[in-house]
Amino acid sequence: MTTPNLHGREACKTADPELFFAEDITKEGKRDVAVAKGICARCPVLARCREFALVNTDHGVWGGMTAEERLKWRRENGVKAIPRVIHGADHRHDIHTRKTGAA
Ligand code: SF4
Repeated sequence: MTTPNLHGREACKTADPELFFAEDITKEGKRDVAVAKGICARCPVLARCREFALVNTDHGVWGGMTAEERLKWRRENGVKAIPRVIHGADHRHDIHTRKTGAA
């Protein structure tokens, strides 16, 4: 499985990847998640990112939604399971580390 082609237009490509994978159970984590969501809110490819993430990922903030929010959406929309899951490390690799050009 590959991540969606967002044409390098991701607002997060210059952001700290850790913001998108913070545990939102601490004050600092909640702040990081809020910052990540703020970055998503001004992202020109939010809709495409969210559409992909709703059925393909269970970690991190994608498309302005946390993993818990996507799980809630799946429950409410009768989507029982994600066939294949992209985990946080893949998200970091495929999207959030593009800024570094890391392989
Ligand atoms: S996680 Fe998705 S919506 Fe958020 S900034 Fe990155 S590419 Fe855009």
